[in-house]
Amino acid sequence: MPLQIVHHPDYDAGFATNHRFPMSKYPLLMEALRARGLASPDALNTTDPAPASWLKLAHAADYVDQVISCSVPEKIEREIGFPVGPRVSLRAQLATGGTILAARLALRHGIACNTAGGSHHARRAQGAGFCTFNDVAVASLVLLDEGAAQNILVVDLDVHQGDGTADILSDQPGVFTFSMHGERNYPVRKIASDLDIALPDGTGDAAYLRRLATILPELSARARWDIVFYNAGVDVHAEDRLGRLALSNGGLRARDEMVIGHFRALGIPVCGVIGGGYSTDVPALASRHAILFEVASTYA
Ligand SMILES: [Zn+2]
Repeated sequence: MPLQIVHHPDYDAGFATNHRFPMSKYPLLMEALRARGLASPDALNTTDPAPASWLKLAHAADYVDQVISCSVPEKIEREIGFPVGPRVSLRAQLATGGTILAARLALRHGIACNTAGGSHHARRAQGAGFCTFNDVAVASLVLLDEGAAQNILVVDLDVHQGDGTADILSDQPGVFTFSMHGERNYPVRKIASDLDIALPDGTGDAAYLRRLATILPELSARARWDIVFYNAGVDVHAEDRLGRLALSNGGLRARDEMVIGHFRALGIPVCGVIGGGYSTDVPALASRHAILFEVASTYA
């Protein structure tokens, strides 16, 4: 059985190529997956948009309604970083639906990945930092609500701190939130996860992987996790425009291998989401995101 991958062509909301958010990485990631033989018809799953009732488990009802009706106040759109028109609104509903579907596939098959997701700056009240809905928080609350999982672990290795996920989930006893990120990076005011590790600027492969190797056994010892959501943001890469850390492609691969290998060896399902990655060289960026799928496919 090939790695189950969740995708939708409308993950790409069609921004101008010079937009600060590199929207074209979504179709280019799919191209990269096809080139690697990972996107066969029996591997690909198309998602539906997440219904409002699921989105409202994690987000304020009025904010969900504003996004769906494309009437988000300008002040919030500025904090998100782009206007929420019909394509951005649909994209946010699809990306969230995609992480929920990937989580269900992970529970069934052991591992599955969404070709979007990891919108971890979206808080309960509103979106922020290029994030409209917090897909991992919504998916966690849907699984808890349905009784599909009781103990959920979020391992967020995007270079930015998972403030929105912490805001939504930190007082939720069924979910443990862990974020390892750049100390001096966005967001300036961090919201405490259940466990945070802040790394200094310029942290490279060796120091990063040492830190991760120490923490993974501590995380798995905390509970018998029913599922792990893994945010594999590639903005920790040395060439990332926003990252401030210094991982290489080999470091990214070793990181993904360490996380996925650790939890799969314990028989714990892993749902991967791509998280952040910012570069003007979008094909290079897409191939960094493809590393998650390459590694995950060896565990499928
Ligand atoms: Zn990020």
